[in-house]
This record gives sequence, C-alpha cells and structure tokens, in this order.
Amino acid sequence: MKNDISVLIAGGGPAGIATALSLLNRGIKCMIAEPGMPATHKVGETIPPNAKPMLIRSGIDQLLADPEHLPCYGNSFIWGSDVADETSFIRQTYQQGWHINRIFFEKQLRAHVLSNGVIWLQGQRVTYCRKQEVGWEVILQDGDNTKSVLCDFLVDATGRSCRIARFLGLQRTRMDTLTGISAMIATAESIQPHHTYIEATADGWWYAAPLSDKKLSLVFMTDADLMDQQMRQTDYFQKNAAKTALIGPLLKGDICEENIQTALHPASTSLLTRRFGDSWLAVGDAAHAFDPLSSYGIVSALEGGYYAGHAIADALSDEEDALPAYDGIISQAFQIYLKMHAQQYQLEKRWEDSTFWQRRRQGY
Ligand SMILES: Cc1cc2nc3c(=O)[nH]c(=O)nc-3n(C[C@H](O)[C@H](O)[C@H](O)COP(=O)(O)OP(=O)(O)OC[C@H]3O[C@@H](n4cnc5c(N)ncnc54)[C@H](O)[C@@H]3O)c2cc1C
Repeated sequence: MKNDISVLIAGGGPAGIATALSLLNRGIKCMIAEPGMPATHKVGETIPPNAKPMLIRSGIDQLLADPEHLPCYGNSFIWGSDVADETSFIRQTYQQGWHINRIFFEKQLRAHVLSNGVIWLQGQRVTYCRKQEVGWEVILQDGDNTKSVLCDFLVDATGRSCRIARFLGLQRTRMDTLTGISAMIATAESIQPHHTYIEATADGWWYAAPLSDKKLSLVFMTDADLMDQQMRQTDYFQKNAAKTALIGPLLKGDICEENIQTALHPASTSLLTRRFGDSWLAVGDAAHAFDPLSSYGIVSALEGGYYAGHAIADALSDEEDALPAYDGIISQAFQIYLKMHAQQYQLEKRWEDSTFWQRRRQGY
C-alpha cells in the first residue's frame, strides 16, 4: 500500500461509524477523523422497531440493551385532528423501539469500533483534501496543528455540512428550511408511557421523547423564516410547550430549570447533488437528510454506512459498478422517504391559512 491508510472517514457520527464497521468486516483498514471533543448535547433520540434487523446485522443491537436507553412502545400524537390518538408497536414484528441517550450511544459506538481496530483521530477536523494519482491527500487540523494523511478512498460522513462534497464544489438541494429548536428538560416524574409524543400546531409541530434519568427531549419544528425568535428564550419556549394539549401535560410538576438551554438545528429534507465519485462517497446526512418526523435519520445513517462499507471494499477491488449500485440503494430509499413524507404531512388539513402547512400541502 502506497498511502498511509486504505480509507479515511471524515466524521464520527452514526454514518461514519457504521461505514467503519462494515469495512472492518471486509478486512479493510480505516481511520475516522472527528473534530472537537465529544458533544454534550445532540438531538436525534428515537430509533423505530423496524431498525432491529439492521442493528443485528451491524453487530450493535446489544448496545441498546443498556439502561441508559429506554424502550419506546409507540407514538402518541395529535395530528390531522383535534383528538389525541396513539399507535402501539405491540402488534408489529419487533415490538419496541428505543429512546436513546444519543451522547451515550455515540460513546458506545466509538468504544465498539475502537475495540475492533479502527484508528480514531479525536479532535481532528478535515480542512482540505486534494486528489492524488491514487487516492487523496487529506489535511487534518487540531487547533494550530495540521497534518497530512494519504488515503486510497475518502468518505464524507460529516453530516449536513457535507464538508468533503463542498471541497469538491458540490451543492445540496434543500426541499424546505425546516429547523428545530430543542431543550433537554428534567421532569419530576418519569414520563409514562414511553412513547414518542408528536403534536401539530398552527405553525409547525412539537415532539417530545422521554429519556433515562427522567429527562425529556423537547423540540419544536418550523421553517427557519417562520421561527418566532423569542423561542430562543427558555421561559418562552417552555410556556409555548406547556400550552399544547398533548405535550403540555408532560411538563406538569416540578421541572428542573437548571441548565435548560435552547439550541437550533437545521432539519430540512435535503439531497447532495452527487453522492459519489472517483475514490470518494458521501454517507448518512452528508448524502441525504430527512425530516425528523420520519425518525429515519439514525437508521438511514447506520444502514447507509453498512452499504457504503461494502461498496468501498468492492470499489477498491476495481468493481466499477460498486459505487453506482450504492448510490442506487440510497437514492431509492430517499424516493420512498419523499412519498411517505408527503403522505404524512397531507394528513394534516387544519390551519388552511398557515404558511407552514400550505408549503407542505404543495409537496416538493
Ligand atoms: C431536531 C432533530 C431531531 C432528530 N430526531 C431524530 C430521531 O428522533 N431519530 C432519528 O433517527 N434521527 C433523528 N434526527 C436525525 C439524526 O440526528 C441524523 O440523521 C443522524 O445524526 C445522521 O448521522 P450522521 O452520522 O450522518 O451525521 P452526524 O450525526 O451529524 O455526524 C457527523 C459528524 O461529522 C463530524 N464532522 C463535521 N465536520 C467535519 C470535518 N470537517 N471533519 C471531520 N468530521 C467532521 C461532526 O462532528 C459529527 O460528529 C434528528 C435530527 C434533528 C435535526
């Protein structure tokens, strides 16, 4: 091997880690570059039951048995009608999903790939990449220090920022400007039942996911241009949440107000215009990102990583169809998602004059 490593993966989120696991299974050495210290707060907490086969296939299902993650038994919602309803997972093939402690889950995934031989470069941000005759030269930055790594194949797993694709001059098609504003709240009692709570309102929708340690992840979703800027203030955010019919009652009792800070998260449905090329591919949110209503982002990142690893292994063995085939799989998944997304939003016919809902009724 002429280069330092076969595969360099930029980004140590679920997609980067799943790609590394899949490469390891094919006997291919890889390293993950992840900037900054591990995050203290991240949204994205619900994994649906139908993720189970994929979690087993990736060898990480046992990680979710840890009590840091709660079982999720269904969805409670007010959507398309003023009346609250619920769906239970009990009659499905896999009878529970998970409300994951996201930070803990990523720590578990990191420990898992490290113990399986992946080189993990913590605090290393990819700041530049240059195509070589064979593979890439990648510049990594840690504070004031930079270093260069040569790799045969480069993976963009940098999430919505899609840094590698941006270096290559590629664009992202954004279907909307959906944005989430979130806060982690400590409740006096554990929320029962362990459901995901979703509630449509005139200008968007709320979701709440109970987590371990009596925490509740609370998010309001709307379009960036429609966001009431006062929602950044914790009191205002909480007061608005408390006014809702389904989620409001979850906030009754002694709410611990310490450390509650709101944070903004881009959450648009978006697609990178090109998801692979000569010795590189994009995976997870970097390739395509989903509306959180779908609860599909983490599963898609893990699933995409699984296929990406195999495609890279095949491409490194000169199989020309490997990367187009990978792209076919993820593009098809995105088309299926778009249909389901449209159906879900079209169920909501209240608030005829609301810009948020009018935009979704028009479709993409
Ligand atoms: C408000 C909101 C709620 C959500 N709720 C859910 C949910 O309930 N269920 C669900 O399944 N999904 C949910 N999602 C989506 C889910 O969080 C994402 O789909 C998932 O995190 C994608 O994983 P990823 O690995 O592709 O990207 P990320 O998790 O974003 O990881 C990308 C990584 O790349 C690193 N990185 C960035 N730039 C560089 C660089 N230059 N060099 C090296 N590394 C870099 C970052 O530090 C990060 O660790 C939600 C998203 C939002 C916004």
